[in-house]
Amino acid sequence: MVVSTYYPARAVVDLAAIRSNVRALVGCARPNADRTTQVMAVVKADAYGHGLLPSARAAVEGGATWLGTAQVSEALELRAAGVSVRLLTWLYAPGAPIDALLLADIDVSVAAPWALAEVVAAARSTGRTARIHVKVDTGLGRNGLEIDDLPAFLRDAVAAQTDGLLEVVGIWSHFAFADEPAHPTVLAQVDVFDRAVRLAEDAGAHLEVRHLANSAATLTSPRAHYDLVRPGLAVYGLSPVPQIGGPEEFGLVPAMTLEASLATVKRVPGGRGVSYAHAYTTPSDTVLGVVPIGYADGLPRHASGHLPEHPGGPVRVGAGAAARTLAVAGRVCMDQVVVDLGPGAAEQAGDPVVLFGTGADGGPTAEDWAQAAGTISYEITTRLGARVPRHHV
Ligand code: PLP
Repeated sequence: MVVSTYYPARAVVDLAAIRSNVRALVGCARPNADRTTQVMAVVKADAYGHGLLPSARAAVEGGATWLGTAQVSEALELRAAGVSVRLLTWLYAPGAPIDALLLADIDVSVAAPWALAEVVAAARSTGRTARIHVKVDTGLGRNGLEIDDLPAFLRDAVAAQTDGLLEVVGIWSHFAFADEPAHPTVLAQVDVFDRAVRLAEDAGAHLEVRHLANSAATLTSPRAHYDLVRPGLAVYGLSPVPQIGGPEEFGLVPAMTLEASLATVKRVPGGRGVSYAHAYTTPSDTVLGVVPIGYADGLPRHASGHLPEHPGGPVRVGAGAAARTLAVAGRVCMDQVVVDLGPGAAEQAGDPVVLFGTGADGGPTAEDWAQAAGTISYEITTRLGARVPRHHV
């Protein structure tokens, strides 16, 4: 029984930002009228932590004509909620409910012969024609058929196509180094992909969509756009290539702002050890602020602050002209972090705190937290705890 929905932190998700980011990606994929590249918004992992259904709907409003999920359950959830655009789902093990996918009119990735056999069996039992996208490993070294195994696979797939059980509508693959556009593997993967497309066409597939590009390749490698691009991170306004440029360079706006309020403000003497293992020690008399959000909410413990010289993740305290960006002092705990507000602090319990957001006015971003924790911004939003309420605005 839920006795209270109160929670001292929240993730505010700006759906207008998602719409505008997708519009920017559509413009990038289709720079002129004769190019018909479509956009599949990748909404896996609860739309990278932003909330599956509201984010998916916003992406469609922004111009996405496809949605993609790794998990079968998320594709089924989208369809059950009435989302009617084309859906592709791609990660499952033997025994997955392929029949439910076909009955829900969801396109299915096939990355191995066993998966083809299960799709064919599901097509027979449901009486539905499966639309499959053949996943080729062009160099990532992960899921997908090796190019040398493709001809034999395609023979079986096209035989099932002739029997009316399936249609090979897509060939697709994924980059290993899309975030390094000049890396030699990018063009090498494009070459292998082109070979895979030719093999499929020669085998008798009538391809509707060839797709290879994630966010980074959508923004930086037009050669990889083909008929469809599959951005994820950029849909949510984060830069997939922070070493090249931040969101604003690509016309993107971060959609998520993680907010809380100060729970405690208290004066302590210099030399006071702060939080577990006293990883931080106050350099002088000061004021500490406690923010009620911790690693159980997804804040990375690697963004703990050690000693005053090695600050932790950034925390914006206060509002308007009085706002200041400080750092986590000491260990990130399960439910809370501490910031050293400094000796002259005027803040009080209840004052607003932003952990990350758009970065406007120099405020902290998910990318800043990623850097503080030695990780990528993908991990910051996707690992945001389920217990943090999402407010869609
Ligand atoms: N395509 C596939 C197969 C993926 O696994 C992902 C995400 O990892 C994406 C597209 C979207 O990638 P990104 O978020 O880098 O745009």
